[in-house]
Amino acid sequence: MSGTPPGRVLVLGGTGEARRLATALVDEGVPVLSSLAGRVADPVLPPGDVRVGGFGGSDGLAAWLSAHPVQVIVDATHPFAVAMTASAATAAAATGVPLLRLQRPGWTAEPADDWRWVDSLTGAAEAVRGFGCVFLTTGRQGLAAFATLTAHCVVRSVDPPDPPLPARTTVVLERGPFSLADELALLREHAVEVLVTKDSGGAMTAAKLTAARELGLPVVVVRRPPLPPGVPVVGTVDEALSWLRGQPG
Ligand code: NAP
Repeated sequence: MSGTPPGRVLVLGGTGEARRLATALVDEGVPVLSSLAGRVADPVLPPGDVRVGGFGGSDGLAAWLSAHPVQVIVDATHPFAVAMTASAATAAAATGVPLLRLQRPGWTAEPADDWRWVDSLTGAAEAVRGFGCVFLTTGRQGLAAFATLTAHCVVRSVDPPDPPLPARTTVVLERGPFSLADELALLREHAVEVLVTKDSGGAMTAAKLTAARELGLPVVVVRRPPLPPGVPVVGTVDEALSWLRGQPG
């Protein structure tokens, strides 16, 4: 994209990185279209053009790319948005549109942390059996994996969680970022004994890990799914901008 204004950039979004990338591109005068799944009732919208809703799988996205010329795609979706990431890789390969994956680095435990890594939400549910109070921060989808837990479960999500939920559930509707003081207060208020999180990475929701560390609580961490092979990956918005500037056109 060296110097001259390039064609439109399609940013597959739903994350803070996607919004920051769209902001930087708009500031540089680059035409950008951000795509959101439409899961959140009142999303924080990025600047520039925005479209909402699925494309209809990889074939649908490939057809959409043929009808709406795009110079380059940046898949800045959440590390656990497996279907969208797979669909973008397949459609990009089919249409020849260059694709970059922007994925923030995962979290790393400190030496004294008691982190228990699992491969899935089902694995996380197994790992927390026997605890009295479980703080579930894995989002409002996929909670069915925990539905048979008899522990008191505190579920935090932006929008009301999808049933089925554990029988004894307290729902906390909140959108990050969360401060350390807030996280400590919430863990103490509910006498949380174990915290469950995806390895989402980033600073926005990391205070819960610091709070668990301060209180000596174990954390069950769901490992990230693997990325599609052959797609270049960067970890920051600045790296994505550098990669985009290196694209022809
Ligand atoms: P997913 O399972 O990978 O996606 C399911 C389907 O939703 C996709 O196949 C696609 O539908 C549509 N979709 C997903 N992201 C889209 C986007 N940015 N633009 C247009 N369509 C999209 O994704 P998910 O885990 O449900 O996440 C949905 C959105 O929430 C993503 O944008 C993600 O960045 C954000 N998010 C997810 C998490 C999480 O933990 N998974 C956390 C925070 C934010 P079609 O097949 O019809 O194209």
